[in-house]
Amino acid sequence: MSVKTKKKMAPRDNGAPDHRPNLHPLMLKNYGKWDYHEKLRPGLLLYVAESGDKLWTVRAGSPRTMSIDTVRKICDLADKYAQGHLRFTSRANVEFSLANEDDIEPLMEEIRSVLGFPIGGTGHSLSNVLHTQGWMHCNLPGTDAAGSVKSIMDQFINEFVTDDKLPARVKISASCCQINCGGQADIAINVQHHHPPVIKPQGVGICELPKVVAICPVAAIRPRQGDDGKTTMEVVDEKCMYCGACHGQCPTMEIRDANTDTLSIWIGGKNSSTRKGPSFMKLAMWGLPNNPPRWPEVGEALQTILDCYKSSAKQYERMGEWIDRIGWKRFFEMTGFPFTKYHIDDSVSARSTFNTSTHVRI
Ligand code: SF4
Ligand code: SF4
Repeated sequence: MSVKTKKKMAPRDNGAPDHRPNLHPLMLKNYGKWDYHEKLRPGLLLYVAESGDKLWTVRAGSPRTMSIDTVRKICDLADKYAQGHLRFTSRANVEFSLANEDDIEPLMEEIRSVLGFPIGGTGHSLSNVLHTQGWMHCNLPGTDAAGSVKSIMDQFINEFVTDDKLPARVKISASCCQINCGGQADIAINVQHHHPPVIKPQGVGICELPKVVAICPVAAIRPRQGDDGKTTMEVVDEKCMYCGACHGQCPTMEIRDANTDTLSIWIGGKNSSTRKGPSFMKLAMWGLPNNPPRWPEVGEALQTILDCYKSSAKQYERMGEWIDRIGWKRFFEMTGFPFTKYHIDDSVSARSTFNTSTHVRI
């Protein structure tokens, strides 16, 4: 193609975009040339570059789901104090990067008074609790994740705003279905269904049946000829593991049941490769009532886990590393949680769950 006729190509829209244009100017200037960083106090970090430049980070816990007004107020504070730069961490903490030390106190004051956010989440503390999108944006929630997280944060606010009360960092997530897009965490709260989906006959046909059949990870769904001659579906109950994936594919497969759904707690998950490698979380407690608006049974179980962890873990030992050292038998003895047959992974696919890679394997 000649230069004259060469069409302007659209920018590449695959892969991760270049993040550098969005960096704080001091981060860009000192990219890859940082000397050290330290935690000055809860919610305040200092980064010192080889050039002598200093950058302060103020971290606050956001409520995760926010109105546009709140986001605008956050951006106004970033413009006023942080040279127009902020970032959200994977745990929905909001972090302001400051080039001027004198701006730290006024910013912290406005975070508290204007936004109403707590400051903390650094060091050996409880990070902001992560929850999934839930009813706001997803089609298969069996419970409200945002509400339970609000209750948890209210209960454990002291573990967020103070540092070094815990042996290491603790990350908690709450997911509103067993697909668990909240992901791995030291402690994860998931909803649990207790029976196969009930097919709503009047809804069959609104979704593509082959896709519904194909999505079941254990091949429990198969097509069937209905009495009226039309193709419908059936679920092989013995195969179904109540995961709810089919409900996400088609609302006809109704798995949610307010009378029987419960919550479970999984612990020991870790994504990073620090010290010991990444680890999958494992079931600690199941059958907890899904009890809004404050979920007291979940709060009580979390308190028990954190108390045992504080009293027995060594410094820098993450939740899963602590349990690996003392053993699961001791964990159940310490917490008093009942050990049941549901704690034993007897799935035919169990071998693959022993993998600890951070990579998705297909
Ligand atoms: S946890 Fe499940 S229901 Fe909740 S937002 Fe994620 S995929 Fe949707
Ligand atoms: S709940 Fe999960 S295992 Fe059961 S039929 Fe649906 S997709 Fe299959």
